[in-house]
Amino acid sequence: MTTTTSTAPLDVAVIGAGFAGIGAAIRLRQRGITNFAVFERDSEIGGTWRDNTYPGAACDIPSRLYSYSFAPNPDWSHTYSGSREILGYIESMVAETGIRPHIRLRHTVAGMAFDEQAGVWDISFEGDPEPVRARAVVLASGPLANPGYPDIPGIETFTGHTIHSARWDHDYDFTGKKVAVIGTGASAVQIVPELVRRAASVKVFQRTPGWVLPRVNRHTGALTRSVYRHVPGAETLARQAWFYGHESVALGVVWNSPLTRVVELVGRAQLRRQVKDPWLRRQLTPDFRAGCKRLLMTDDFYPALQRDNCKLITWPIARIAPDGIRTAEGIEHRADCIVYATGFQVSKTGTPIPITGRDGRVLSDEWQRGAFAYKSVTVSGYPNLFLTFGPNSGPGHNSALVYMESQIDYLVRAVGIILDRDLRIFEVRQDRQDRYNTAIQRRLDATTWNSGCQSWYLTEDGFNATMYPGFATQYRNQLREVDLGDYTLVAAEPAVRARAVSAS
Ligand code: NAP
Repeated sequence: MTTTTSTAPLDVAVIGAGFAGIGAAIRLRQRGITNFAVFERDSEIGGTWRDNTYPGAACDIPSRLYSYSFAPNPDWSHTYSGSREILGYIESMVAETGIRPHIRLRHTVAGMAFDEQAGVWDISFEGDPEPVRARAVVLASGPLANPGYPDIPGIETFTGHTIHSARWDHDYDFTGKKVAVIGTGASAVQIVPELVRRAASVKVFQRTPGWVLPRVNRHTGALTRSVYRHVPGAETLARQAWFYGHESVALGVVWNSPLTRVVELVGRAQLRRQVKDPWLRRQLTPDFRAGCKRLLMTDDFYPALQRDNCKLITWPIARIAPDGIRTAEGIEHRADCIVYATGFQVSKTGTPIPITGRDGRVLSDEWQRGAFAYKSVTVSGYPNLFLTFGPNSGPGHNSALVYMESQIDYLVRAVGIILDRDLRIFEVRQDRQDRYNTAIQRRLDATTWNSGCQSWYLTEDGFNATMYPGFATQYRNQLREVDLGDYTLVAAEPAVRARAVSAS
């Protein structure tokens, strides 16, 4: 890829202005690095929390933990906040830290290639924006960014209204409508309780019942908020309590252990308490170990399914017809609107954009059978590139932001090393990366995720490129320091650097 640029290279290009990209930008600035830009394809910042605005959208991780420790918010209104409040938190971080001028909206990266001679990444964009060069790149485009539609015959023939959970149509009026919801994952269990209040009828098409656990959501009163605001250490203490509480849950959901039975007992108790009809209860009973697929945290999904205007359909979908959904036993379910709560196109085997590294290596080719990286942040052959939420950094039991914050602090340290030492190449050693991934895959074999169920964590071949097989504390500790022994460092040659700057 060749580019021509009219400005000097950036020190850092951050791709994506969701939680990760914004967090990276804030920490770069706090480290004194100011020559950076954040490129965002959309016209607004916020990533997941800009896109997921469906009724009931909220986070099932407590807000005090689903936030950055470097940007505490004493004012969360509930234990588990809604999507609007979370988006507001992201926007207020941007406003308070002064990073807004660094954000370039409507910049969709078309591809990037590493210029080894100069030690910079050439980044090109779709459409008008001029290409840029950057000494380091932070890829923060997020794994759950593009809506996924199911591969069901006839899907294009439906003549009614269609909505995806991650692209909600707020102008559509559900009043008096017959609605079909496909999917019963983390998004669907939040949507269905809201839809049954508005629509004439709701049919929920379930392929696999999940483990549903209680999520006790409480309003945070003014007095408690004032304690978080004014009492030194209160906010940190609460965060730590949530953190270690979630860490203990790992023993039951990351690995099959006697505690997995306890988690399942809690799920079964909720099912027994909330669903009295034995047949419905049977239809809602999972047949895999708790934790293998994502746990569903909700108190109002089962009650919603039992409303008079709601029905659970468990027959497989045979096809979608112009006026509704036909199930395998031949019944036509007419619908005015189909809501796809069917998740995202998650690439576990490629990259979101074409990335060409050293010696013309193409990352998508190398990741064809499954993505891998070193500590999920750096990849051998792709110097000066840093990933957030990269391969094997997904948590099953704790806040994704804890993992993200560790990645951000690690990569900011590494970028500091590149700039302070004027490095051309900062590249993880292949042997370190291989050793790391061999250990990760061995450890994954012992986890619930690899215990036989189908989930978006696995490739079609069953390779787990998504989850981190351990405690968040372990993950955090391994990223606490940048061990220079893991990396090949090559200093910039002043003449080459000068040529790169003058050519750009
Ligand atoms: P998801 O977990 O991938 O669930 C998709 C649902 O659609 C599943 O129930 C799936 O059934 C069903 N489905 C897919 N194709 C189908 C087909 N052809 N026929 C019938 N059913 C089909 O998607 P999601 O609920 O949007 O959640 C995705 C991720 O987003 C979560 O794992 C989580 O990481 C994140 N999320 C987080 C929160 C939060 O509160 N923190 C909330 C929402 C989402 P199968 O199970 O049989 O595949």
